[in-house]
Amino acid sequence: MSEYLSRLNPEQRAAVETVDGPLLVLAGAGTGKTRVLTTRFAHILMTRRAFPSQVLAVTFTNKAAKEMRERVAAILGEPAEGLWLGTFHALCARMLRRHAELVGLQSNFTILDTDDQMRLLKQIMSAANIDAKRWTPQVLMATIQRWKDRGLVPSGITAAEDVDFANGRARELYAEYQERLRQVNAVDFGDLLLHVTQILQHHADVLADYHRRFRYILVDEYQDTNTVQYLWLRLLAQRPQGQDQNICCVGDDDQSIYSWRGAEIENILRFEKDFPGATIVRLESNYRSTRPILGAASHLIANNAGRMGKTLRAGRNDADGEQVQVVSLWDSEEEARMVGDRIEQGQRKGHRLSEMAILVRAGFQTRAFEERLITLGVPYRVVGGQKFYERAEIRDAMAYLRVLNQPADDLAFERIVNTPKRGLGDTSIRSMHALARAENKPLVVAAWRMIETGAVRAKPKQALHELLEGFARWRAALPHEGHVVVAATLLDESGYTEMWKQDKSPEAAGRLDNLKELLRALGEFETLAGFLEHVALVMETDEKADADRVSLMTLHAAKGLEFDTVFLPGWEEGLFPHQRALDESGDKGLEEERRLAYVGITRARKHCIISNAANRRIYANWTSQVPSRFLDELPEAHVTRDGGAGNHRNKMAAAPSAFAGQFPLVARKPRVIEAGAWEVAERPARSAGIPVGQRVFHQKFGYGTVIAADDNRLDVEFEHAGRKRVIDTFVEKA
Ligand code: ATP
Ligand code: MG
Repeated sequence: MSEYLSRLNPEQRAAVETVDGPLLVLAGAGTGKTRVLTTRFAHILMTRRAFPSQVLAVTFTNKAAKEMRERVAAILGEPAEGLWLGTFHALCARMLRRHAELVGLQSNFTILDTDDQMRLLKQIMSAANIDAKRWTPQVLMATIQRWKDRGLVPSGITAAEDVDFANGRARELYAEYQERLRQVNAVDFGDLLLHVTQILQHHADVLADYHRRFRYILVDEYQDTNTVQYLWLRLLAQRPQGQDQNICCVGDDDQSIYSWRGAEIENILRFEKDFPGATIVRLESNYRSTRPILGAASHLIANNAGRMGKTLRAGRNDADGEQVQVVSLWDSEEEARMVGDRIEQGQRKGHRLSEMAILVRAGFQTRAFEERLITLGVPYRVVGGQKFYERAEIRDAMAYLRVLNQPADDLAFERIVNTPKRGLGDTSIRSMHALARAENKPLVVAAWRMIETGAVRAKPKQALHELLEGFARWRAALPHEGHVVVAATLLDESGYTEMWKQDKSPEAAGRLDNLKELLRALGEFETLAGFLEHVALVMETDEKADADRVSLMTLHAAKGLEFDTVFLPGWEEGLFPHQRALDESGDKGLEEERRLAYVGITRARKHCIISNAANRRIYANWTSQVPSRFLDELPEAHVTRDGGAGNHRNKMAAAPSAFAGQFPLVARKPRVIEAGAWEVAERPARSAGIPVGQRVFHQKFGYGTVIAADDNRLDVEFEHAGRKRVIDTFVEKA
């Protein structure tokens, strides 16, 4: 047996060797689904069933794509070239470049980020005289996104699918938005799939061509495909009678976490119908996590109804490991300190930082941990968040590069035309827009026209002229000087670098460094266009993993990944499960949150540390937090609970002394709760004389137990009314 097959168990091997015909691998976390897919790819190549370019492989993140490329290369013993391998978006971007003209675009189209989209939508709404206070562009953007997720073009939206927006004008605005995108030769993320699906639906020759090309199709994380992705896959995979339908999808219904982005779990249920005669393979051995981690995750997810149901058992040789730890802390700052301390401890024991991750429910939660890690000098990266390419100077420089690549990129041009300041006032910019719209031409053309007709004052006129001439010159230099040299020249000659050199703020030096780094990144690409596309794509998902760093990311971004140590902070009602899910009627939202918790726990190989804080700062105020119901759903047999503050929802808590040795108090900024937990606990004794742990009676809420106190406020867990914050003089000792 070949070496690569010997690394699989019998079920996995069957999934790899069943090469012909449709196949669905339905299995729990860490059972080797992705490994099966990767090995299957290699197997197809090794048995000479297809050339590398004849396999279409869809991964969920860029990181997974990279891993798959490396694994295939390792199995083949040489770098794999010309692969159709990547995320839905990356694959569709590539297809769309090949057939852009079929949807009225040129192949060098720009992929817009959400900033650009928002700017465009605002313009469209303002031109249509829609009150942006009453009807926000954010809502319109989300609406359009949802339509695109469902594969709906403006003309395909029936009255039934319309939404309540701007007195029934959403469809019209959507159509206008698509038209404007076409004019500036741009697409948004949703368009990548939408346009390609349209092309495949309406151009039989193109579809037939892809049918001939792709002999095998592989799809990871199938449970999270949305409708348009599903349509795209089905178009490519369903073949005329008599031809093989070699599609292999792997997925896990318990890890479906993107319904808010239109993912349809039904797609996985429908597989056998779509592809009659499909083989279904189940995998049951988990090779990733220790027994306690698996036990905790399985027990938790069992609280969901309507699951397909799967067996999951520990398959590691060293499956006995440390219990899952639940650590309850007094407040969010202590929580960040606890995580930071443990990361340092791990580091001292020789654990690699890249093997540790902090997974949060919502993006904003990373900040507290980022600050802590910065203080400790621990390198980290935020995967899929506000990082390098989102910084203002990088966005500006990217806009220059986009105009260089494509003069008709109006959104980019608009961003830089007066950055640095060229003396163009709002009026000039508005007339430039009006002229461009009237003549149906890009802004650059309108700018030239304004110079010729003298429609701008002398000083800005000269500056604008220099800029436009500059672009012509830089573009002309591209073929012989190369894109990196031209980019550097452009940033200097346009005055952009100088702007930051003149800037006296403390951040300016860092910004100049970032610009240099951008040129370094650009140098890694053969062409400017290739680089621009890369950035558009990584910004949407994740960054390349290079140095040894702790990873911070949302639970959503962590799907498919694994780490030795995983921190899961903020398990509190309203935060996780998220308030939105709690506000929904029915259990759907809550069940998705629980699947998210399942995904989180199953990312860990050896150590899983879940935490909650009893108090959290919301803007300037501190609020007390109720521990997440998910903490109660963890099985005692696999969990060690540590610390008192809000440990069990129904038990009285607050045993602050438990932290005394572990987390020495350091001087903190002024805040509502200034003292250590035990001091606060002592304070009511000094004020109303009601200590933590006291049973009390409240006129409105009845009996309860004090679980925290500060100044004249008490947090009371009432026996019937739940947790409330009350003023101490309104309760009496019971
Ligand atoms: P998820 O549902 O989280 O995406 P998965 O089912 O895709 O998980 P993989 O990531 O493929 O699982 O595998 C989990 C871990 O187990 C990986 O580290 C993988 O290398 C390892 N693994 C998979 N199969 C085996 C096996 N037969 N023997 C040893 N290790 C394995
Ligand atoms: Mg996987």
